[in-house]
Amino acid sequence: MIKVDVNKCLGCFSCSNVCPSQNITRTETPETRSVHWKKCKEECDLCVEFCPAKALTLVPFDEGSPETTVTYDLMACKICGERYATEPMLKRIESSLPENLQKDSTGLDWIWICPVCRRNIEAERATKQMVLGRTRKSP
Ligand code: SF4
Ligand code: SF4
Repeated sequence: MIKVDVNKCLGCFSCSNVCPSQNITRTETPETRSVHWKKCKEECDLCVEFCPAKALTLVPFDEGSPETTVTYDLMACKICGERYATEPMLKRIESSLPENLQKDSTGLDWIWICPVCRRNIEAERATKQMVLGRTRKSP
């Protein structure tokens, strides 16, 4: 069966995505994300292999051990306030990137901004640059 180190888990859902037997289930609300690990009797090892945090280990089946559930509050985007990712996931991304890549070219702290706002900001900048380019070209 699977043993979860809840202190290492990021709440990324990779394990639930790859589990072929629905032994790892997920629940989402607009503010939270939960992962629930049932007592798996299989030993396929897929979830262990795909966990980016090495939070899972295969241990001998134990009828008496409880199932595990972890619930995370989702972090709010610094621009729109929409909740979009767990704090451990964002911190993990932040720590894996060199400091100069954690901000965009204008100094925006992009890890803490949701994908929708990032796309909008980039689209707005691209449009401004295009307009600026045309203005420069015109006589
Ligand atoms: S060992 Fe396999 S079946 Fe069991 S929880 Fe992990 S992925 Fe699912
Ligand atoms: S794959 Fe690992 S880090 Fe991601 S939710 Fe599962 S146990 Fe947690």
